Amino acid sequence: MSLEVRVESAIALLNKIADEYEPTVFANSFGAEDMVLTDLIARHVSRIGIISLDTGRLHQETYDLMQKTAEHYGICIQVFFPRHDLVEGYLAEHGSNAFYGSVELRKQCCNIRKVEPLKRALAGKKAWITGLRREQAPTRSDLAVSAFDEANGLQKFNPLLDWSLDEVWGYIREHGVPYNALHDRSFPSIGCAPCTRAVAMVEDIRAGRWWWESPATKECGLHVVAAMKKAA
Ligand code: SF4
Repeated sequence: MSLEVRVESAIALLNKIADEYEPTVFANSFGAEDMVLTDLIARHVSRIGIISLDTGRLHQETYDLMQKTAEHYGICIQVFFPRHDLVEGYLAEHGSNAFYGSVELRKQCCNIRKVEPLKRALAGKKAWITGLRREQAPTRSDLAVSAFDEANGLQKFNPLLDWSLDEVWGYIREHGVPYNALHDRSFPSIGCAPCTRAVAMVEDIRAGRWWWESPATKECGLHVVAAMKKAA
């Protein structure tokens, strides 16, 4: 399938989602895939709202891109923060870098800083959109383009699911889409600063995320595969 056809089909899907699942939001974490979706939504389907989660631990480069994106497209991105009482309790009990201590403590941090704010961001919505791609990780190989997200109680769409990394970057270059400066410093996947690092050419895309854990546990809880059913 050519990139042109992939783009047309993604725009058609976004329009269908906006028509049938009003209100819908796109959860933007400012990685390369999310910037493709930002461009498609801002230029073709601006009825879809854009939200983002500020975990409080993002890279400065991500904040720079957040501001640049809003200015470049003239759009409003609604940012959700973690509840301060939960962050304060976690820090008091476990310390600032507790996520390195165990998978359980890492998941607790992700729950507080990502999962709970996402639930608030999705409250009252009929669907949400993400930039997940199948080839990004073993945990994403069985995903569907459209599935019911039982954990959050609404439909979830992954319009770029079958795009390749080359197609993502082809689109970014062709359309002059702003992107995170960290991608030029060998960060293929970008999350929170303490939990993301650059990777070598021979490593896989998600090798720089939670690098001290096994590939099977590398999800933050935003994308709970086991709880999702393929759409009919
Ligand atoms: Fe916490 Fe790291 Fe998860 Fe960010 S990625 S919420 S810092 S454990």
